[in-house]
Amino acid sequence: MKRFPSTALTLFALAIVGSSCASAQDDPKATEQWEPVPKVVTSGAKDNAPPSDAVVLFDGRDLAAWEASKDHSPARWKVHDGVVTVDKTTGNIQTRQRFRNYQLHLEWQVPKDITGEGQGRGNSGLFLASTGPGDEGYEVQIMDSFGNKTYVNGQAASIYKQAAPLVNAARRPGEWQSYDVVWTAPVFAADGSVKLPAYVTLFHNGVLVQNHTELAGETFYIGKPKYKVYTDAPIKLQAHGDHSQPISFRNIWVRPLD
Ligand code: MG
Repeated sequence: MKRFPSTALTLFALAIVGSSCASAQDDPKATEQWEPVPKVVTSGAKDNAPPSDAVVLFDGRDLAAWEASKDHSPARWKVHDGVVTVDKTTGNIQTRQRFRNYQLHLEWQVPKDITGEGQGRGNSGLFLASTGPGDEGYEVQIMDSFGNKTYVNGQAASIYKQAAPLVNAARRPGEWQSYDVVWTAPVFAADGSVKLPAYVTLFHNGVLVQNHTELAGETFYIGKPKYKVYTDAPIKLQAHGDHSQPISFRNIWVRPLD
């Protein structure tokens, strides 16, 4: 008899607590966020046209945004018919503007009559951060990988000598292909050590081929990747020394994310 009222009281108290918790949890406004308001960006009308906040690097008219990597002279690759074709005699080209973190769109085409095999078949490259005048930097491989065998961490859409693509999304020579990249630059401590590594996400023709891939450093032809301190850098396109017909690019734009 003596315990009954106290048990009833406890149940009553639990009911009160329970109902007040339920009301806080059931308030949809408790989890609404209203600030800061994302700025408005108008997406490209069609065909991967640049969004309103993009830096247009090549729109088919000229190479004003580009320079020769070796001496910063005007880029001299051949602009024709709304595209630019690699001129292997004049070397790599890079953007005049420097970038840190960004989203990039780029389209490329291996000639229909491409010859050569392995790495010597339509080889070029997209250097996400060009940290030197030669081939220093972080290379996303560009080449003909439509039925063209080579080492998998060197085929198209690989991070050269570091990460093979998740799948081979290559189109046949003569067809235009696209890369959409999210580049997260590495962060270095004051003593030059790596605080945060670089990451690459890449879509090849709309297919995910690099999913937030962590990099071990810059690309090297010989030896393991390693980091070199930098803060921002140009984006570079490679004039590879193979003897196959040069590839072409069109519609290149970038959205800085800093
Ligand atoms: Mg290459």
